[in-house]
Amino acid sequence: MLALKLIERKRDRKRIEPAEWEALISAYVDGDVPDYQMAALLMAAYLNGLDTDETVALTSAMVSSGKSLPRLGGPRIDKHSTGGVGDKVSLILAPLVASLGLTVPMISGRGLGHTGGTLDKLDAIPGFRTDLTLVQAVEQLDRVGCVMIGQTAELAPADRRLYALRDATATVDSIPLIAASIMSKKLVEGLNGLVLNVTVGSGAFMSTREEAATLSRAMIALGAAHNCRTVALLSAMDRPLGWACGNALETEEAIHALHGEGPPDLMTITFALATHMLRLGGITADDAVLSRAIASGAAARKFQEIIEAQGGNPGVVDDPAALPQAPVSSRYLAGRAGVLARVDPREVGRGIIALGGGRTRKEDRIDPTVGFVITARPGERVERDQPLATIYARDAAGLAKGRSTLDRAIVIAEQAEPMLSLIIDRIGG
Ligand code: URA
Repeated sequence: MLALKLIERKRDRKRIEPAEWEALISAYVDGDVPDYQMAALLMAAYLNGLDTDETVALTSAMVSSGKSLPRLGGPRIDKHSTGGVGDKVSLILAPLVASLGLTVPMISGRGLGHTGGTLDKLDAIPGFRTDLTLVQAVEQLDRVGCVMIGQTAELAPADRRLYALRDATATVDSIPLIAASIMSKKLVEGLNGLVLNVTVGSGAFMSTREEAATLSRAMIALGAAHNCRTVALLSAMDRPLGWACGNALETEEAIHALHGEGPPDLMTITFALATHMLRLGGITADDAVLSRAIASGAAARKFQEIIEAQGGNPGVVDDPAALPQAPVSSRYLAGRAGVLARVDPREVGRGIIALGGGRTRKEDRIDPTVGFVITARPGERVERDQPLATIYARDAAGLAKGRSTLDRAIVIAEQAEPMLSLIIDRIGG
């Protein structure tokens, strides 16, 4: 009865009150509201929108659908990225800021569509477990200052079910529903502060700066309503981030970054996010402080501690060759001289899936070793036959697929194309 009344209300562009959201989400998680009614409500919300109070109430109901990490200890700060291609920032950022005194409870996701996911990159580390229980996660957070895990059935279970339903009913693409989904998963971490990296461009879910700003403001409002100070950095995803694209290749690049050898764009984003996280935690740090944490080995040692605590082989930090390696590789050369006008991240992301490094169905197993290392950067002048990238694959057929991916992704022209600035804007904070 309750669900029917609320579907009618949203259909007729009227408001649903906070206590009604709470009752609806709780009944849905308990199995008392069927998927077909929730799907109808989601579609009405998708078409007619939710106002800020409704989005706050929906998020609170999703948070209280499960357990949360207790808010104990020092400043607890996390980062969330809306995703992209080549985005291995979390693997550098979490140990870096934890080595400087923050407590980082990082609950991450797997690859979604053409974008990569932190959990898949961590899975490339032999033995690494991302499926800790809540008790184990809390214990590690106290002892090591950082834990990097996946969402468990106990944390925001409403989001798990709602997200699967949205995926099957073409209702993912709604700013209030995305904001509630992302923030419900972050707010169960018991955070004092959150830095959002909202990506913009053809490789991101938000294709324009305006959409990204609207989503950022919606998430900042949800953070404020839950006593979690939230800042958003908008950054470019109209080209891959860094050089490596593909799970183990990205983990290897993140390890090199922790040893001071990261690509400039990756380090710029990582340092900007780190500065904001530390500031939210009451720690003042500039690029010099961050560079010292890397040069002294403190950040790399913290990553080793995290890996060891989660059952992985910490030796990969000293010897990244211990990560799984692709059986075959081949260089990709420029077909002509000119300016590298574009490296399309969406094509690269789809290419990784075609090589077996991503999923087309949730249950697909992925090959962590495959992907691309694209060292040429948009805007650069290139000569014919100059190496632009290396393709990593399982076999010769994979190399051929990788080559045709790069033929589509990499555009050489007479002139450079306009690109987004790497850091586009900051909202909040
Ligand atoms: N990521 C999420 O966690 N939720 C969404 O709704 C979209 C992207």
